[in-house]
Amino acid sequence: MDALEILSNLDSVFPYFQPIFSADEMLVVAYEVLGRYQSDGEIISLGPFFNDDQIPDEYKYEVDLLLVKRSLEKALEVREDIKIFLNRDADLLVYDDGESFLQELLSFEKRGLSLSRIVLEISEHQYQGDLGQLDNLLNYYRTYGIKIAVTRLGRESHSFTRIGRLNPDILKINLQALKSTSTGTNFNDVLFAISLLARKIGADLLFENIEMSYQLQFAWKNGGRYYQGFYLSPPTDDFVPSNLLKNRLKEKFHDFNLYEKRKLEAVYSTAEILQAKVHEIVLKNKKLDYEDLLKAIAKQMDDMAFRMYICDGDGFQISGNLFKGNNGWNTQMEYLNKNWSWRPYFLETIIKMRNDRKGILSDLYCDIETGESIRTFSLPVFENNYLFIDISYRYLFEHDELL
Ligand code: CA
Repeated sequence: MDALEILSNLDSVFPYFQPIFSADEMLVVAYEVLGRYQSDGEIISLGPFFNDDQIPDEYKYEVDLLLVKRSLEKALEVREDIKIFLNRDADLLVYDDGESFLQELLSFEKRGLSLSRIVLEISEHQYQGDLGQLDNLLNYYRTYGIKIAVTRLGRESHSFTRIGRLNPDILKINLQALKSTSTGTNFNDVLFAISLLARKIGADLLFENIEMSYQLQFAWKNGGRYYQGFYLSPPTDDFVPSNLLKNRLKEKFHDFNLYEKRKLEAVYSTAEILQAKVHEIVLKNKKLDYEDLLKAIAKQMDDMAFRMYICDGDGFQISGNLFKGNNGWNTQMEYLNKNWSWRPYFLETIIKMRNDRKGILSDLYCDIETGESIRTFSLPVFENNYLFIDISYRYLFEHDELL
């Protein structure tokens, strides 16, 4: 892309707007501004221009400021509460201490554009400068009501620390990686962790690059409050009616609900069945010592379980492990007296079992030793003791409503 050609044809530089939809209202609530350039009757993205290291920052700055101006002119026309997302590369943002950009915003504020409608989409993946300086600048912008979104997540190892420090209003997550099934569980799990983090710090999740129905479903399921992508609406030079997809999103959410409820019902009813079954075996064999009791259970749950043990209310193992290896079940006494109360959800599960006097089927998680996705069924047995039965991936795979 010829930078000089662009700079000498600034009339051909203009913004495109991609709608961002909200899950709660199912309306267009914002637009992301994207740079476009018209060359020989063809409209091309200015993305490569802004990402090109060879092009001097002052050129980019000039083109960028023009895009900001033209997009905010447009924003003045629409509903008060529609937000405008402006892409801010950290390097360009700290250029001249972000002063001319801020002056531009303030001149629009004078004309009636509330700066609380502005969301800065910060991408700092190539930023080599001082993070403290960047943070100070962002905090300064915030004093004007400007919101901060963090984008290009999930690649840098320091993402989590950065997110904690920036405390953004919005976390923007690119679903491009979800296109191929080969990205598999790890990507899902990282996103799940990010969604927990977002909840902890009070940030909203925005999923972008939604290009297929299952990506929308993924975004919905993982706590996405905002959605953006070609599957919903492509970027254009104009705004769209805010209720453009209201009915379609309603239908989609209904389908997603049915699907998830069916899975939750399956987990619930499996827990009920296991509860009755295991409880009966325990009652019949309560005279046996723990290891023999586990063997009696294993005999009847051979197709399903691969590990079982008993803990007391403080998480200390009061039996060995009964583990199903390649040569069948065997007892591993080295696990006796190990403590598991430090594990996530352990105490919550104990308290819930104790209060409800009922078994619980856990969520799907990765077993530390085998590396497989499993669930654990746990059940109160005897006085203040708890039986844990790990359900194999193979069984869950054969009953895929449990996956
Ligand atoms: Ca962006």
